[in-house]
Amino acid sequence: MRSLAGGPRQAELFGKLPSSHRTTVEPQMRRLLCSDGELQFRLRRSRRKTIGFRVDEGGLTVAAPGWLALADIEKAITSKLPWIRRTLAAWSMRSCKAANVEWQVGAEVSWLGGSIVIELQADAGHPILMIAPTDDLSSCSPSGITNQYLARDRLVLPLSSNASSDDIRLAVISWLQGEARRVFAFRLAELAPKMHLSIGQWKLSSARRRWGSCSGNGSIRLNWRLILFPMWIIDYVLIHELAHRHEMNHGTRFWALVAAACPQWKLAERWLKSEAPKILGVSYD
Ligand SMILES: [Zn+2]
Repeated sequence: MRSLAGGPRQAELFGKLPSSHRTTVEPQMRRLLCSDGELQFRLRRSRRKTIGFRVDEGGLTVAAPGWLALADIEKAITSKLPWIRRTLAAWSMRSCKAANVEWQVGAEVSWLGGSIVIELQADAGHPILMIAPTDDLSSCSPSGITNQYLARDRLVLPLSSNASSDDIRLAVISWLQGEARRVFAFRLAELAPKMHLSIGQWKLSSARRRWGSCSGNGSIRLNWRLILFPMWIIDYVLIHELAHRHEMNHGTRFWALVAAACPQWKLAERWLKSEAPKILGVSYD
C-alpha cells in the first residue's frame, strides 16, 4: 500500500493497521462474483483483529485476520460493495485524468457515445458540426448540420489556426454544453409525457460525481457531461430523475417506474460505473 505523503488521499473505511502488526507477506489476488459483476481484490492476511478495506490506484486491498474464513471476508466485502464501487470509480476517474488529451487540431472529443474530430477555421463564424453521412442519428436531428462526404464526424470551431489549447478546450466545452441543453430538452419533451409528467423545471449542472438530481419541488439537474455518453444512457438518467418526481426515494415503486420506462436500466447503471470514468478521462472541466 502506498504512503499517504504527497499522494492523493486514500479512502479507507476502517482504522489503519498498527505498525507493529505489519507483515511482509505478499497479498494474494482474488476474484469475487458480486451482484453487479466481478470484483478483483488483493487479500492481505495479517495479525490484525478487524477487516480493513483500502482503495487506491492499484485497486481494492482487503486486510483480514489470518484466522478469518474466506466466506466471512467475502460477506464483509459484499456489505461494503456500494462504497467499494464508488471509490474505485472515483480513483479510475482520477488516474485517467493524468493522461490528458491534448486540445489541438485533430483531437477526438466524445459526443453521444461516438467521437468527433476537432478542426479550426477562423472565418467559420460559429461552431459547425459536420456529420459523416453513414451515421445514424435518427433519434437526434440537430439543426445547423452540414452533410458532406466525410470519413469522420468533425467539429469546425471558429478559431484561428494559432488558437491556444485553452481556447480550443473552452470552445469545445461551450459547444458541448449547448448540445447538452438542446438534446436534453428534446429527450425530456419525449420522455416526460410517457411518464405522465410535464417537462417542468430543469437545469444543467457541472457536478463532479452526480449525473442528475431531483429536488423536493421537482426541479431536475442534469450533468452536461452526459452529452458525451450514448443516447440510451442519457435517456436512463433522464428517466431516473423524472421518476423521482413520482417517488422521492429508491424504493420498489421507484424502480418499477424506472423499469417501465427504461427496461435496460440495470445495464445503464453498470455502464455508468464501468464506462463513464473512461470517457471522462479526457479532462472536460
Ligand atoms: Zn435517484
